[in-house]
Amino acid sequence: VRIKLGLLYGGKSAEHQVSLQTALAVINALNGEKFEVHPVYITENGEWIRGEIIEGKVQGVEELTLTEKATAKAISPTSLSTLSQEGEAVDVVFPLLHGPNGEDGTVQGMLELLNIPYVGNGVLGSAAGMDKVIMKNLFAQAGLKQVKYVHFLKMDWKNNEVAAYREVEQELGYPCFVKPANLGSSVGINKCTNREELVNAFEEAFQFDRKIIVEEGITAREVEIGVLGNDAPSCSVVGEIVAKTDFYDYKSKYQDGDTALIIPAEISKETYVRMEEEAIKAFKAIDGSGLVRADFFLTEDGSLVINEVNTMPGFTPFSMFPLLWEHKGVPYSELIEKLVELGMERHAEKQ
Ligand code: ATP
Ligand code: MG
Ligand code: MG
Ligand code: MG
Repeated sequence: VRIKLGLLYGGKSAEHQVSLQTALAVINALNGEKFEVHPVYITENGEWIRGEIIEGKVQGVEELTLTEKATAKAISPTSLSTLSQEGEAVDVVFPLLHGPNGEDGTVQGMLELLNIPYVGNGVLGSAAGMDKVIMKNLFAQAGLKQVKYVHFLKMDWKNNEVAAYREVEQELGYPCFVKPANLGSSVGINKCTNREELVNAFEEAFQFDRKIIVEEGITAREVEIGVLGNDAPSCSVVGEIVAKTDFYDYKSKYQDGDTALIIPAEISKETYVRMEEEAIKAFKAIDGSGLVRADFFLTEDGSLVINEVNTMPGFTPFSMFPLLWEHKGVPYSELIEKLVELGMERHAEKQ
């Protein structure tokens, strides 16, 4: 019997487009003998649509036209329980969603209530991994090395903007990075080297969130590692990002294509082992399950400074996380199957 897999993609998030790129690749990689795929497209407005795979194309993907057939079938999120042709619940859901309303525990909470197994992190891990301030506080408690950071609520900033800028200058200085607390794909992130840039960066970041984080800017190599598993997770090889731009911004991630991913990264065995240990510490600090991609800075003196974990990292066949596993001997379609298994295992444990 084939596994009925609900695939959620798109999403009400600034990372909508990134999710669309992934959905097609995942559908194409799924073994049709093992899986019966039920795609659900979530529009940018948060409307859920029963997707259809038409000639191997996925609805919503920009260059493809939506079909009338598919757009007609708006559904309620809770109807995931009766998504299959026979009106049965799907066996498992893959929330291929990035950012708020998908990677942050909201969709995960709904799936918990519907009692449907799902791929990836649970409610707590997803929520903790989405909020950079909460995540960093948890990392600090786990003894992981990080850059200095401060955070602000929009209300406090509005009350006294200058006090906020002074705090940044006193605590961190320049360069610093201003980020919305809850986002990804570098959306809303700016590097600042002076007050004017700082003011603009605050304005921009607060367009995406009521909370922002400001971090000390670090000059270092950027290295990433994949973590896979539930309570006994294991690590992939390490990859390095070499961005040709000033930092790894949205354009260099998804548009320019001139960012080099070096896999495996040229690092010492000792650094690699340390990175494995710290990535698993980070995974456990957020109570992770399924997968994370842990992003570190590697400084000239050999220190590993954790930047973040992503609980649903970029997942096209050309994205870092799948490539890291491929180099570890787990090809793309096998990785997807492994993730589905892990999701079902975790669900079974809770019953
Ligand atoms: P994603 O989820 O896609 O990995 P994100 O939106 O969560 O990205 P970050 O990974 O925090 O954003 O930052 C994006 C990029 O900005 C980093 O990959 C790095 O190039 C740069 N960057 C972020 N913070 C710092 C810092 N404190 N010092 C130096 N560079 C930084
Ligand atoms: Mg991130
Ligand atoms: Mg992310
Ligand atoms: Mg990152």
